[in-house]
Amino acid sequence: MQASTDTQKLEFNKLQKRLRRQVGNAIIDYGMIHEGDKVMVCLSGGKDSYTMLEILLNLQRNAPVNFELVAVNLDQKQPGFPEHVLPEYLDAKGVAYHILERDTYSVVKEKTPEGKTTCALCSRLRRGSLYGYAEEIGATKVALGHHREDILETLFLNMFFGGSLKSMPPKLLSDDGKNIVIRPLAYCREADIAEFSQRMAFPIIPCNLCGSQPNMQRQNVKAMLAEWEAKFPGRLETMFKAVTNVAPSQLADRELFDFEGLEAKQRQMRETRIDTLDLLAREA
Ligand code: SF4
Repeated sequence: MQASTDTQKLEFNKLQKRLRRQVGNAIIDYGMIHEGDKVMVCLSGGKDSYTMLEILLNLQRNAPVNFELVAVNLDQKQPGFPEHVLPEYLDAKGVAYHILERDTYSVVKEKTPEGKTTCALCSRLRRGSLYGYAEEIGATKVALGHHREDILETLFLNMFFGGSLKSMPPKLLSDDGKNIVIRPLAYCREADIAEFSQRMAFPIIPCNLCGSQPNMQRQNVKAMLAEWEAKFPGRLETMFKAVTNVAPSQLADRELFDFEGLEAKQRQMRETRIDTLDLLAREA
C-alpha cells in the first residue's frame, strides 16, 4: 500500500515538474512576462485555468523577475452559477482577485436565434468584458488557459471552415492594440492538465451551465486528433512543432513570400555565382 502511494507521489511530482517546465519554456520562448508586469489570470473555474493559476503562482515564487498576478473571474450570470466557489478557493490560497459581473448570458439568449449555437457570441462578449477590465485594473498582460490541443483544434477548424492557416498564438496583441494576451499553457498537453487538475482536486465549475450544446465541429476535430494520437503516438507533438516551424516559401501566401521576385533573386544568385567563379579562376 505504502509502495503504491509512493509511486503515485513520484508520478505527481514528475507531472508537476513537466507542467512547470513547459510553462516556463513558453514564457521564455515568447517573452510573455517581464519585470513589473501585472498579469491578469482569467479564471473560469475549469481545469485549464485552475492549472494555469497554480503553475504561475509557483513560477512567481522562483522567477528571476518580479511580476504580479491577479485572478479575474467573469460571472456571466448563468443560471445556477455557484458564486461562492471561486472566492472561497482564492481566499484560502491568498490570491488577489476580482469577480467581474456581466450578464452576458441574457444578451446571448436574446440575440441568438432558437437552435443556433451560442458560443461564438458568448465568447466575443466574454473576451470584450475581460479585455476592457484588464485595462481598468492596469493589467499589462491577460493570461488565458488555452493548451496545446486547443491550439491544434483551432488550427484545423480554421483550415476546414475558415479557409485560413491560423490558430491561437502563444502571445497576441489585441486588434485595438490595448491588450497583450498570453497563453502560458501553450506547450502543455490537455491530458496532463486533466490529470493535474484531478490530483489537485480543484473545485471545478461545470461549463455547461448555460445549457448550450458543445460546439460540435470542435468536438469532431478533437475526436479526430485523439484518434490520430492513439494510432500514431507523438503525432500531436509533431504537429505542434509544425506550428512553430513555418516555411512561407513552401506555402502559397503571396503576402508572406515574394513569389513575383523569384526571377530577380535567381539573377542575383547567378551573378554572385559568376563573380565567385571569376575570382576563383583569377586566383588559380
Ligand atoms: S458553452 Fe455556454 S458559456 Fe461556454 S462559450 Fe458556449 S455559450 Fe458560452
